[in-house]
Amino acid sequence: QHLLICGGTGCHAAGSADVRTALQNEIKKQGLADEVAVVETGCNGFCAMGPVAVVYPGGTFYVSLTIDDVPELVQEHFLKGRPVERLMYKEPASKDIIPDMKDIPFFAHQQLIALRNRGLLDAESIDEYIARDGYRALAKALTEMSPQDIVNEVKKSGLRGRGGGGFPTGLKWEFCQRTPGEIKYVLCNADEGDPGAFMDRSILEADPHSVIEGMTIAAKAIGAHHGFVYCRAEYPLAIERLKLAIEKATEYGLLGDNILDTGFSFNLQIYQGAGAFVCGEETALMRSIEGKRGMPRPRPPFPAVKGLYDKPTVLNNVETWANVAPIIIKGGDWYASIGTAGSKGTKVFALTGHVNNIGLVEVPMGTSLRTIIYDIGGGMPKKHRKFKAVQLGGPSGGCVPEQYLDLPCDYEEIIKAGAIMGSGGMIVMDDSTCMVDMARFFMEFVQDESCGKCTPCREGTRRMLQILEKICEGRGEMSDLDLLEELAAMIKDSALCGLGQTGPNPVLSTLRYFRDEYVAHIVDKK
Ligand code: SF4
Repeated sequence: QHLLICGGTGCHAAGSADVRTALQNEIKKQGLADEVAVVETGCNGFCAMGPVAVVYPGGTFYVSLTIDDVPELVQEHFLKGRPVERLMYKEPASKDIIPDMKDIPFFAHQQLIALRNRGLLDAESIDEYIARDGYRALAKALTEMSPQDIVNEVKKSGLRGRGGGGFPTGLKWEFCQRTPGEIKYVLCNADEGDPGAFMDRSILEADPHSVIEGMTIAAKAIGAHHGFVYCRAEYPLAIERLKLAIEKATEYGLLGDNILDTGFSFNLQIYQGAGAFVCGEETALMRSIEGKRGMPRPRPPFPAVKGLYDKPTVLNNVETWANVAPIIIKGGDWYASIGTAGSKGTKVFALTGHVNNIGLVEVPMGTSLRTIIYDIGGGMPKKHRKFKAVQLGGPSGGCVPEQYLDLPCDYEEIIKAGAIMGSGGMIVMDDSTCMVDMARFFMEFVQDESCGKCTPCREGTRRMLQILEKICEGRGEMSDLDLLEELAAMIKDSALCGLGQTGPNPVLSTLRYFRDEYVAHIVDKK
């Protein structure tokens, strides 16, 4: 039997490392070490219930484990063959036990592609990744496909960049492939910095080889022999596991020189960022790797033509890379059969805020907000509280109010509602939330993180923040609302990079849907 205990950052914070050690000791003490293997996996996804553990075969799902639960769990489940009901997941409304993990609503509505190995393998074991078809796509790409075949398959899939921009991935690779150059680069953006977002961190912690495999396939497609994963230093566990994964892949001949004896070489390095949000912008990220101050530059030229060290470069984020191997194995048509007309495949969301089931969620594009927040997320934690809005896309996004709960989540529909898909942060707010304060919080974030290179963003966001603070403190005037809109339009039109261009979005969307709250702050002076 296997007991898989979650070792993602959320469960670690809830004490899973101690529970794992206690389980290993107890299993040994009871003479079960040869029969029960305790495996620490990456993030299982159901962070709200951590520490969580699953026993296979059977899929019995245990939640909120503590070290005090361990003796009973081992004796009852493994010695007597009786699952411990008090530690199993219960349906919140009826308190009925749902014994099998796959039947729990949080999991039942999800479809996993990028997170396909979630909670199923030891992130530090390359053998376990290979046992789950890992590196089969790379072998296929290197031995059976031409660079153009790879690009065509990714184009056919309709995969779009999951970092926020949504640019078609295959097209980006094709531009870079067609740009002449001896030296090209493949980069992974793991500089996830949106408040409330933890998609990329969890993928790197749980399944680092999926990212390495995707990047190596792209390297073959564009003719690159060197790559970097740009990961913020605040993600130590992700960096540790990625480092080990690179070492192991190199040792197994899956990375480095002469991969799988095909003559193709690709070397991968990790570059640790210092946590500046703007370094998630592609040109700033590249400057940072070059050892310069991380500041964006105007585009064009685009990185596919002139990127890192002025060489043609492909950059995608962690989630995008994790989608590549299944596309190569199952085909672009398979991937394109999932999702909506303009947004193919699935999307990972970090579901957080005022919602019962905080965690990592992967659903087909087009899944409604209602399904994500209520069926998967379990609705509001406080019974007397009502849903008010959900913030999509972090500080670059916007809030989506109740009337859009049935909005299908895809790139196009979310934009119509005044938000953006972004990288997948989804912060749910109940009716105790002050939307003006929420807008002020995001503007403070943008102002803090503005790199200062261009005046509209540096000065404009500062001015917007001052006005928002004034309104929150009860010193606002009605004319301030017009001024906020005027400044927002000016910043959106003239800021140099995405951070500034999208920074006013939370203010604009709250003004659009919750203007009455701004007015109440001004009229009631509170
Ligand atoms: Fe820097 Fe803001 Fe200008 Fe971007 S928009 S370059 S973050 S000042």
